Amino acid sequence: MPAGFKTEVKAYQMYIDGEWLESRSGKTFPVYDPSTEEVIAQVPDANAEDVDRAVAAARAAFDRGAWSGTTAQERGRILFRLATKIRENAAMLAELECRNSGKPIVEAEFDMGDVATCFEYYGGLATKVLGYINPVPDNAMSMSLKEPVGVAGQIIPWNYPLLMAAWKLAPALAAGCTCVLKPAEQTPLTILEVAKWFEEIGLPKGVVNVVTGFGETAGAPMVKHPEVNKIAFTGSATVGKVIVKQAADTVKRVTLELGGKSPNIFFADADFEAAIDGALFGVFINQGEVCSAGSRVLVEKSIYPKFVEAMAEKAKRVTLGPPLDRDTKMGPLVSKEQYERVCSYLDIGKKEAKLATGGGRAEKFARGFYVEPTIFYDVDNQARIAREEIFGPVASVIPFENESDAVQIANDSPYGLAAAVWTRDIFKAFRAVKALRAGIVWVNHMQPTYVEAPWGGYKQSGFGRELGPWGIEEYLETKQVHINLNEQPIGWY
Ligand code: NAP
Ligand code: MG
Repeated sequence: MPAGFKTEVKAYQMYIDGEWLESRSGKTFPVYDPSTEEVIAQVPDANAEDVDRAVAAARAAFDRGAWSGTTAQERGRILFRLATKIRENAAMLAELECRNSGKPIVEAEFDMGDVATCFEYYGGLATKVLGYINPVPDNAMSMSLKEPVGVAGQIIPWNYPLLMAAWKLAPALAAGCTCVLKPAEQTPLTILEVAKWFEEIGLPKGVVNVVTGFGETAGAPMVKHPEVNKIAFTGSATVGKVIVKQAADTVKRVTLELGGKSPNIFFADADFEAAIDGALFGVFINQGEVCSAGSRVLVEKSIYPKFVEAMAEKAKRVTLGPPLDRDTKMGPLVSKEQYERVCSYLDIGKKEAKLATGGGRAEKFARGFYVEPTIFYDVDNQARIAREEIFGPVASVIPFENESDAVQIANDSPYGLAAAVWTRDIFKAFRAVKALRAGIVWVNHMQPTYVEAPWGGYKQSGFGRELGPWGIEEYLETKQVHINLNEQPIGWY
């Protein structure tokens, strides 16, 4: 970038009740490009008053049947129209996502495809929500009906900004709920661009409201709000625990998608080249800012030295670069705060274990929050870098003796979001699949995620499931209906 060049700072408003608004306080906050550290936008800094306005709009839209009163076919068609808009504008959205989050452009393009697919999937599923006839032992017709939960408050993180918004909005809208969505303070831009199409695709006003702001001032009031029926949260375990407590007073339904410290397990009989690739991909994709990152790399002792060496050699060749560069495999971390957090774990790691490669800032960049792909080895599973989620490009390699040792180490974690196992022995693979306590287990791969399959964690990785039919279920209530077919009095008295 030429010296003295200043990026244009775009001013955004937020979308409430079909209108574009400033915050009531008039305050805004800056949004950055983490590769240049420059401000690229200003967005409204919402507080409890703005949240009230958004919740009131969502409540009114729900209560007047503006959305749940339409047909499932119509809801599906609107979701399809949104998907089409996203596909038509995928290049613009990918570039904006990339600039705002620091993720490589090629990954951002994949994300936009997944976003559109998610709206299409739930557009189709809207018409497949079925009730039941219950075989009760009386002259009666017993039914169970599915109905939308009501107003959904949705709080999302910055690592997959628009994709996380799609995972929340698509099933909620298909179910007939109305929504108040709070994007992460770092990455509100793509969903604000998408909201510009809501009116045009036929979404009635108040059905989706996007409130930009901070966790404590805009997220918390939503969690406590008596008119919000459900909170769907993706983020850190620390904030997840606060949300459960705050939602208790109004007995809200809560689903939590929290972090992880996922084991990626390599047996000696695995294809070696594929294994090295899989170990790197598992932990360095999206700069390691992935809730299911394979950040604990468990390796069988007989191949351990060779494995660590090969992994480190290949990690040194991972292309770090500007996110918009098509050769870039790792961009900068999302923010200064996250960069400092990851760097503090690099210092901890240097005291707790041995460093195979990386360990600091990527010095070839004058600006931007670039961290080298880092591999620690001889890590004890009780070390902080093996127990705490770092959410950056940092792998902790841990040796194991045998199958039962591997499973024991893998399960010895407060988290249980994901796990992967690499072997050519089908019996060993299936035994591991059964023994691992995690919401998803991959065999001979790590990270592919599909809208058709369930996503969510065991243990402190959260509860509830997103995606597939499981995802829509979280936005539905079940109503029992009993129809007496006897015309005579009950005859009890
Ligand atoms: P975070 O700090 O927990 O924030 C997540 C969201 O919650 C943000 O929108 C945040 O607002 C908001 N928030 C913060 N405090 C709040 C409060 N007291 N009440 C209500 N909302 C509040 O997490 P992050 O730093 O954005 O993202 C990284 C974390 O997310 C990692 O731990 C990662 O594992 C997890 N994650 C999990 C999944 C999954 O599917 N399981 C997916 C992606 C990320 P601000 O914008 O002000 O921070
Ligand atoms: Mg945060």
